Amino acid sequence: MSIGKFVSLIIKKIKVKKVFLNISLLLLAICLGFCHSLSFMELNKPERVLSQGVWHSYITRHFNFYYRPGYRSSVYIDSIAAKQEENYSEVLKLFNLYDYGYKVKYFIFEDFKDYDNITGAGSFSNTYEIGNYGAVYAIDNDSLSNVTGKHEITHFLVDNFFGFGAPGPFKWLTGEGMAVWSDGGWYGEDLFDFAARKLRNDEISSPYFIVTHPEARRIQQNIYPMAGAFTKFMIRNYGLAKFLNLYQKGYTLDSFKAIFGKTFYEQNTIFENFLKRKFDEKSNPLPSSQLRRKR
Ligand SMILES: [Zn+2]
Repeated sequence: MSIGKFVSLIIKKIKVKKVFLNISLLLLAICLGFCHSLSFMELNKPERVLSQGVWHSYITRHFNFYYRPGYRSSVYIDSIAAKQEENYSEVLKLFNLYDYGYKVKYFIFEDFKDYDNITGAGSFSNTYEIGNYGAVYAIDNDSLSNVTGKHEITHFLVDNFFGFGAPGPFKWLTGEGMAVWSDGGWYGEDLFDFAARKLRNDEISSPYFIVTHPEARRIQQNIYPMAGAFTKFMIRNYGLAKFLNLYQKGYTLDSFKAIFGKTFYEQNTIFENFLKRKFDEKSNPLPSSQLRRKR
């Protein structure tokens, strides 16, 4: 190779490298632009939220409540705290748990707009639990009724005592199911009655559909009480320990059979038949003469 050829080859290589270098720099710049925006979790990090303005704190045995001066909740914080302490004790009892050493960081926001202004995270629900940070966020957009309840306390205790659930098809159904079940009903109605009525009117999906069609979760509100009703049914018939087993080890659809001895599809049919009977009994109660004879 002549010296001239050698030099031109080196120049070509440098050019190619330069092109690669430029592309890499461009990709880096794009990534910094997009990847640098904080994730939903990061935006909701308690330390970050607490640094955004003035917060008051109210400490009880199991909670550290945070709210801002002037909020509706600031007037009622005593009764909110008392109610949530009561709910916490009831959830502990329901799951046969002992006290958990860390307090729930319980943030109360005045409304959705207030939440968005402070966190910049965009809201999708009245209340939610940020499991990794041991925090609960309650958005008070309905005259304080969202601020108390057992749903997020259940998530908090289940996450801390039993883990976040197996990353499989049953994660949503079991996790949300237990949170709804612990609340005891759905807007005052018994979970079985609600699910039976809605299933009869085709206004709700079966547990099997919910598990095998994750996309349904985004479009159907009523899947929460259905998850709660199924959870109630399973815990009543098989016990809490087995249900928690599904929560922790439900990696695939087949995991269900290994725990309960029948397929999830078979169990779904049994549950649906139970709801159908429940609906029929409610719609056509036995005449009082027959009731008397039955006794
Ligand atoms: Zn939930």
